[in-house]
Amino acid sequence: MVGTGRGAQLGVLIKGPEVLENTRRVDTIVLDKTGTVTTGAMSLLGIHLVEGQEETDVLRLAGALEHASEHPIAQAVARGAIAKVGVLPVPEDFSNVPGLGVQGMVDGHAVLVGRERLLREWSIGLPESLQRAKKSAEGSGRTAIIVAWDGEARAVLEVADAVKPTSAQAIAQLRLLGLTPVLLTGDNQAIAESVAAEVGIAPSDVIAEVMPEDKVEVVRKMQAEGRIVAMVGDGVNDAAALAQADLGLAMGTGTDAAIEAADLTLVRGDLLAAVDAIRLARRTLGTIKTNLFWAFGYNVAALPLAAAGLLNPMIAGAAMAFSSVFVVGNSLRLRNFQTGA
Ligand SMILES: [Mg+2]
Repeated sequence: MVGTGRGAQLGVLIKGPEVLENTRRVDTIVLDKTGTVTTGAMSLLGIHLVEGQEETDVLRLAGALEHASEHPIAQAVARGAIAKVGVLPVPEDFSNVPGLGVQGMVDGHAVLVGRERLLREWSIGLPESLQRAKKSAEGSGRTAIIVAWDGEARAVLEVADAVKPTSAQAIAQLRLLGLTPVLLTGDNQAIAESVAAEVGIAPSDVIAEVMPEDKVEVVRKMQAEGRIVAMVGDGVNDAAALAQADLGLAMGTGTDAAIEAADLTLVRGDLLAAVDAIRLARRTLGTIKTNLFWAFGYNVAALPLAAAGLLNPMIAGAAMAFSSVFVVGNSLRLRNFQTGA
């Protein structure tokens, strides 16, 4: 009770006491990528400019056009631009080119933002430096958006699902707890490996291009190899794997299906909470064992003494009461459990 209560204060909801036992033996922690290790939303992560080009001009003009589009990638560029330059101009003319990008007039410039093919339709080439930036962005699984105006390509913007700021720290701490982190995703190998590198997971511990319905098979296979598996996920597609895992942890920011299937819910939606959850559960289990040892210890020592008539009933009564006080007092120490973050 004290352990689960302290967990609730820290944003870790533990479903039942049997969960505690499972956390002790877990040796592998499978992490869903999107929404668990990453934020699950696109954001603007990098800007590559041609020489002599001002970043603020690129963000103002590209951001203004993208702001008018509802595409998630366009919205990510617009948000990134607003964060850096503040208020964006309103385009004088705007049109969507489905699948390619957007084009329009901003501040008297004819602006294009989108894929390379959009530029080709206007016979605008990509200079060497931007060509390289685009290739390296795409090589690490990011989306490269090209910005051009007045007939010239000016910049490449990198957009991707950003890694949560605490994920790398949490994964390092999970290792300290003796767990091997594994990244599991339906995305392609390049995206998965680039996220894994960012958070400190070796490429050999990346399982990519897994169909949603096959995630549970991955967990089952690891269990067949004798591993005790914890799984952290957020999506509907993680629910079966969360239920199959020896210990299922759901992101509180995730879907109801995932939360329902899991043993533990991390209200904060942050991987550091998974570290707290495992530490707290292990500590609680340790406390239960100490309590059992002392509760039995008293009886084992006192019963023969009492039977032999060597124990004053008054003292025996006091000792009996004291053992309960000890157990409660020892358990209450869990209230001081501190988050490692
Ligand atoms: Mg997910």
